[in-house]
Amino acid sequence: MKLIIHGGFFSESQTNQEIKKAKQDALAEIAKAGYKYLQSHTAVETAVYTVGLLEDCDLFNAGTGSQIQSDGKIRLSASLMDGKTMRFSGVINIEDIKNPICVAEKLLNYEDRVLSGKGAKEFARENGFGYYNPETPQRRKEYEKKLSDSIRLGTVGCVALDLYGNLAAATSTGGKGFEIPGRVSDSATTAGNYANAFAGISCTGVGEDIVSGALASNIVTRVTDGMPLALASGKSLNELKPFDGFAGIIGLSATGEAYHADTHPYMVWALCDGEVEVFA
Ligand code: ASP
Repeated sequence: MKLIIHGGFFSESQTNQEIKKAKQDALAEIAKAGYKYLQSHTAVETAVYTVGLLEDCDLFNAGTGSQIQSDGKIRLSASLMDGKTMRFSGVINIEDIKNPICVAEKLLNYEDRVLSGKGAKEFARENGFGYYNPETPQRRKEYEKKLSDSIRLGTVGCVALDLYGNLAAATSTGGKGFEIPGRVSDSATTAGNYANAFAGISCTGVGEDIVSGALASNIVTRVTDGMPLALASGKSLNELKPFDGFAGIIGLSATGEAYHADTHPYMVWALCDGEVEVFA
């Protein structure tokens, strides 16, 4: 059993050691809680539970505390992939929801498994997900100061390997911040989140770059074809270089290999296989 999680890049706080430390502490706690949950739950259940905890932590750009888009609204995207059943589900640009990853989980059993905008919200309401405003005063302050010049990241993700050797990946984001309404993040695509019987990957970074490199599915395909996870990740990230792609990944393989890599510093992530280790 293994669990790997990330809290995205922390460009907004690169110089702020206090925020960096707070994010590292939060990741340590959440990795511990997720790993405990994994003892008695499947990889899919654990990935949802753990990303739910990350969404609820307002330090990260997912769920509560998400970035505000250019028109002043928050839109959330999240996806889930069960490596055992090869089912992918997700929501794109859903509004007024607390935990988009839980809506994605609900969709996993449906024939129509990726919903966007108004349809996603209606589906959520019909399935008991009530109104929730994920905005925090801190994000409003940032928005009002028009800090649109710096890309402010902080997407979250989790890959879990359960007792039965099954993998699942989950990723959730508030987007890039200040984007044009309607812009689609990588996080609810197979470029940003992918798992099969061989490997699971969750990405963060600039969604357009991640999609250009078909990053998560690309790495998983290489592992499926026999490449070790570290080599596969390095090769796929290298392919972003010609267009100066900005991305980071966490991943696990079915053989228990755990890996993190990024094109730019600094990404916060944590690994747990009993002991928690936090990195940045
Ligand atoms: N990948 C996300 C997006 O482009 C942002 C992030 O990872 O922080 O929407």
